[in-house]
Amino acid sequence: MNAQMSPPRHESLVAGFLARTHELFIDGRFVPAQSGKTFDVINPATGEVFAKAAAADAGDIDLAVKAARRAFETGPWPNMSAGGRRNLLLKLADALEAHADEIATLESMDNGMPLMVAKFAAVAGAAECLRYNAGWAGKINGETPTLSLPNHHAYTLREPIGVVGSITPWNFPLAMEVAKIAPALAVGCTVVLKPAELTPLTAVRLAELIQEVGFPPGVVNIVTGFGDPAGKALVAHPDVDKISFTGSTAVGKSIVVAAAGNLKRVALELGGKSPVIIFPDADLDRATEGAANGIFGNAGQVCVAGSRLFVHKSVFDRIVGGIAERARKLRVGAGLQPDTQMGPLVSQKQLERVTGYIQSGTQDGAEVVVGGQRVEGKGYFIQPTVLAQTNRDMRVVREEIFGPVVCAMPIDDDDLERIAKQANDTDYGLSSNIWTRDISVAHKLARKIKAGMVRINGGQGLDYALPFGGYKQSGWGRENAREGVEAYTEVKSVSIAL
Ligand code: NDP
Repeated sequence: MNAQMSPPRHESLVAGFLARTHELFIDGRFVPAQSGKTFDVINPATGEVFAKAAAADAGDIDLAVKAARRAFETGPWPNMSAGGRRNLLLKLADALEAHADEIATLESMDNGMPLMVAKFAAVAGAAECLRYNAGWAGKINGETPTLSLPNHHAYTLREPIGVVGSITPWNFPLAMEVAKIAPALAVGCTVVLKPAELTPLTAVRLAELIQEVGFPPGVVNIVTGFGDPAGKALVAHPDVDKISFTGSTAVGKSIVVAAAGNLKRVALELGGKSPVIIFPDADLDRATEGAANGIFGNAGQVCVAGSRLFVHKSVFDRIVGGIAERARKLRVGAGLQPDTQMGPLVSQKQLERVTGYIQSGTQDGAEVVVGGQRVEGKGYFIQPTVLAQTNRDMRVVREEIFGPVVCAMPIDDDDLERIAKQANDTDYGLSSNIWTRDISVAHKLARKIKAGMVRINGGQGLDYALPFGGYKQSGWGRENAREGVEAYTEVKSVSIAL
């Protein structure tokens, strides 16, 4: 990535992009919605409309699915070698990086995230995702099983599943969109992507780059619009073979029901209420820093956010005080302001949701250690918030808030069974964090936690080589790694009587 690119150049590119009409990308061309409808795109740092995007409905989705089906069955895509698919994905990664400053600026304006996060977590992460998955093209194989049957030979084939409908949320728009399309394309599927209506712009820019690097028409279709009707129509479409969804558990459940028509495959990456468990022998400064970053990063709008904090009673005040201190010092502001550490929430609705949860917590008896208020003025800013005196029966502890709000609770003993029981006392099971220097405690507890991811002593935990997904109501299936790529394939058995 060229971090040195001079501001005027990328600013003029952003201005040029915003001045264009943002249309649907169907069958390799940009077209308006059939209805002619558009919707407003709002900058969460100001609450002002700064762009408009096309609002697809069922008819547009049908056109996109037909294009994806044609591209899957006929034309250059099914005959393209795995190396050809790999090279296109690599070219797309290069194109994203070549436009990193411009795309990061758009992402920050659209979602609110700090520019540095947009550059390094979103754009660089998306490029890395494309390259990682490009590497899998041609490396997903069938097997030659040893049979019980005499005089037979057999093998399995892994074939692309077909037309994939991808539905993505607004919290890391570009990264999520690329995480959906990259493995699907690596194995030879075609895609109809519906990005979140709150953050459609980097998806439209991605479509322009997909066109520019030369993906055959119809291989990727990007259709902006609302969950209802566009997302719903995609999920219900009888010619879609798989839906891959990231978003709320409530919508995930509705997708399971709606996908029943043609029994399409469904992968769900849903919410979380992830525990952070801090033992007294941990590196307490690192644990404090890690716990604060884990809930205030991206204003808490992160599915793996560590939102339930369990701290051993002997260090509870120190850790909670340390997180509160960091919260007080966090520079909250517009994502494009160079010194911003935490941007706004994505929308007025999300602001109301988060403040509503804080109110419900205080009504239930929680103590606001720090924060708790919206920041007055334009935009959807909220103070980073630490709640203490919380317990398992409160909504703030049970439900996903998706904001910078952590609920702190003391652990009274050293019994790992009881600690695991507290950590697992949730409908979710996406992620978890353990802080200790005792490797036996860390590994024993890691096995007891019911979550798809356990992070010990911090770190990112998210790597494209690591399977990612949830236990319980945090989802179905895994993204990333071999599992995530194979999830876009069907297995066929071929047997021969010798
Ligand atoms: P949703 O689950 O509603 O949205 C996610 C995506 O699904 C969006 O593209 C949305 O479209 C689409 N969608 C909505 N309804 C349907 C439907 N019936 N059929 C098909 N697609 C649909 O999340 P929200 O944006 O409403 O956020 C609400 C809460 O969800 C958050 O506060 C948070 O708790 C959780 N969430 C969790 C995420 C995670 O990563 N686990 C990510 C985002 C949200 P559109 O936005 O255009 O309406």
